[in-house]
Amino acid sequence: MRYFLFLILVCICNTFTYSKNTIVVNIQPSEDFNIKEVNNILPKLKNSLEDCTSENIEFKLLSSIKLKDIEKVNNSKYRAEDFILKANNKNITIVLTHKDICIKYCRGRKNWGILGLALAPKYKACVVSDHRLKNKSRDYWKVITHEFFHSYFKAKHCKNNDPSCIMQDANGHANFKNKFKVCQKCKNRK
Ligand SMILES: [Zn+2]
Ligand SMILES: [Zn+2]
Repeated sequence: MRYFLFLILVCICNTFTYSKNTIVVNIQPSEDFNIKEVNNILPKLKNSLEDCTSENIEFKLLSSIKLKDIEKVNNSKYRAEDFILKANNKNITIVLTHKDICIKYCRGRKNWGILGLALAPKYKACVVSDHRLKNKSRDYWKVITHEFFHSYFKAKHCKNNDPSCIMQDANGHANFKNKFKVCQKCKNRK
C-alpha cells in the first residue's frame, strides 16, 4: 500500500513538472505579407518560441494591418511605431511586414531603419520586417524571436557574452548569421 501511494505521488509530481501552459501568440501581418508566407514561417517560429518559453505555442492569425494607416517617411520607409499602435495590443501580437521600417531617431540620425521594434511594457505588440535581411529564410525567425522575447518577457538584451544568442543587441548591424538560440541566461532572465 505504501509503495502504491508513493507511485501515485510520483505520478502527480511528474504531472506538475512536465505540464506546460499554452501561450496564444497573435500573428497580424501587414497587408503586403500574404498568408502563404505566414504559414511558411510558423513551423520554425513555433519551435523557437517553444524553446525560449518552455511552453506550448499556438498561433492565431489576425486580419491584416492596412498600409494606408501607417506613416510613410521619405517615400520608402514606414514608421515602425505605427504598426505597433495599429496592432492588437490586448494579447501578445507579432506584426510581420516586408516593408522597410524605421524609428524617428537613433544614434543622432532621423528615420533610422530597423529590423524590428518592441515597445514593452507599454504595448504587447511588436513589429518585425525582413526587408534588411540578406538571408531572409535563414534569419527572419530569429529576429521575430528577438522581438517576441522583448515583448513577452519585457526582457532586455543579452548580458551574457554569447555571440550565438538571438537576444544580443544588434548595435545597428543586422547580423543574425551566427545566432541560433536564446541562451540559458536570457531564458532564466538573469
Ligand atoms: Zn542571451
Ligand atoms: Zn532588441
